[in-house]
Amino acid sequence: MRPVFSDEDEAFREEVRAFYRKELPKDWFGGLSDEAEESRRITHEIKKKLAKKGWLTMAWPKQYGGQEAPLTRQVVFVEESAYFRVNARDAGTGYLGIAIMQHGTEEQKQRFLGPISRAEIDFHQGFSEPNAGSDLTGLTTKAWREGDDYVFSGQKIWGGHLEQADYSFFLARTDQEAPKHKGISFFIIPSDTPGLHADTFANMGGGNQQIVYYDNCRVNAQECIIGAENQGWYIAATALNHERAFVEHAANGARLMEEIVELWRSADRHNANDHRTIVLRNKLAQVAIEVQVCRLLNYRFIWLYGEGRDPSYEASQVKIFGSEMTQRFMHVAGEVLGFYSQIQRDNPKSSHVYLGGRVEHQIRYQPSYTLMGGTSEIQRNLIATRGLGLPR
Ligand SMILES: Cc1cc2nc3c(=O)[nH]c(=O)nc-3n(C[C@H](O)[C@H](O)[C@H](O)COP(=O)(O)OP(=O)(O)OC[C@H]3O[C@@H](n4cnc5c(N)ncnc54)[C@H](O)[C@@H]3O)c2cc1C
Repeated sequence: MRPVFSDEDEAFREEVRAFYRKELPKDWFGGLSDEAEESRRITHEIKKKLAKKGWLTMAWPKQYGGQEAPLTRQVVFVEESAYFRVNARDAGTGYLGIAIMQHGTEEQKQRFLGPISRAEIDFHQGFSEPNAGSDLTGLTTKAWREGDDYVFSGQKIWGGHLEQADYSFFLARTDQEAPKHKGISFFIIPSDTPGLHADTFANMGGGNQQIVYYDNCRVNAQECIIGAENQGWYIAATALNHERAFVEHAANGARLMEEIVELWRSADRHNANDHRTIVLRNKLAQVAIEVQVCRLLNYRFIWLYGEGRDPSYEASQVKIFGSEMTQRFMHVAGEVLGFYSQIQRDNPKSSHVYLGGRVEHQIRYQPSYTLMGGTSEIQRNLIATRGLGLPR
């Protein structure tokens, strides 16, 4: 059997680990799904350092800010970043950049890919609308030509942090008559475009979501459309496939598994012969298997992508398995910690915050994993039709 990673990849893994051990604060809670201001600031600083090393987009072509490293090397980097709870694979480096590389003009590649690789620009993602989430083809945000410009009118929901973004990338309908998915185009506009604004609301994980309004925003047509007019659906599909192939679930799971096992072994709070302890131990063992399966599903996606194929339902497999595995794991982690799993990390009255309060935080945040990027039901529909070839 061929190992997935070369000796050079494994040596690089050690280099990434050493980097994070040196650079991250000792009490680092992590930037993944944590929106605290301090966390964002540290993530931003770390990303600048990672960009300087050329690691953020190391598998990209050199002319677009990459190092032409093997894909496996990039996977090692993303895995280790997630293990150290650094959100290194954002929209730009994780999926928008890949979509621009596949579908954008040379001018657009030059304009966006270098700055993405150098961690200079951030994006707001505007696909979902109040009445178009799972059925994204039902979106009603409109774009029409006036002279040299496109004008945009409509509303998006869920995507957040417009105020921190440099650009908003989104889908808008450019042909009202065409079949639904054939009348959609893909746009990127500056976040300070007049008429672009947001209302913010809280999610139960302690972060924010937004409703974003495009009130007759006007932008030069050449500068804002990606690919050809009415081809936006296919560009979004590329972006979504890479968003869904979320290697972070496996790496996060592996890290938390280590921490829980260490806590269990050191705490000595469980009687090993108690039947509840035996059941719980077996549940944890089951999750340990699932973490590995999740990892392998992701490697399969990467391998297909590296072979020049366009994996689609395989991304849905990663998405379903990873997100649902994380949800199952959080229930088991909650059982292991018992009532302590309900104490928030910043509770000043409690000295019983275990694992930095991560389990409590994740229990609140993880329901969103099976929604964002497309729900589990929709991913199963995609596997049934695209993967198994069943009729729609
Ligand atoms: C934390 C979070 C972050 C997000 N970030 C972004 C973002 O940055 N940008 C962005 O554009 N969007 C974002 N989303 C939106 C996300 O993509 C949508 O919530 C998701 O696609 C579901 O759409 P909806 O909420 O409109 O639910 P609906 O489409 O209304 O679905 C409701 C329920 O019906 C089920 N359902 C619908 N259609 C079918 C069907 N055909 N077969 C079976 N079941 C079906 C769904 O699975 C779901 O359970 C985010 C969501 C969350 C929760």
